[in-house]
Amino acid sequence: MAILSTVAERGGRVLVRLPVSQPCPSCAGAEFERTRCPMCQGRGIVTLRLKAWVTVPPGIRAGDRRVVLAELELYGERAMEVEFRIDPA
Ligand SMILES: [Zn+2]
Repeated sequence: MAILSTVAERGGRVLVRLPVSQPCPSCAGAEFERTRCPMCQGRGIVTLRLKAWVTVPPGIRAGDRRVVLAELELYGERAMEVEFRIDPA
């Protein structure tokens, strides 16, 4: 996820969109159904880009991977691993 350099330096709470994979809500990944499932094209998994408030710890550098606490729409709080990119402020 991309954050501003000021946030990377000092930490903060940012609103981003995060990809979240989940079992396909249409076929639930069921073997017998998913080969013809239009929603997941037979993969059994769909990836949604959900809005999330993420708490960024201070001192992040480009390419850092961290487990952060994300407050996801639909799901609520969840610990997720993200890779940071830094946007120049
Ligand atoms: Zn499906």
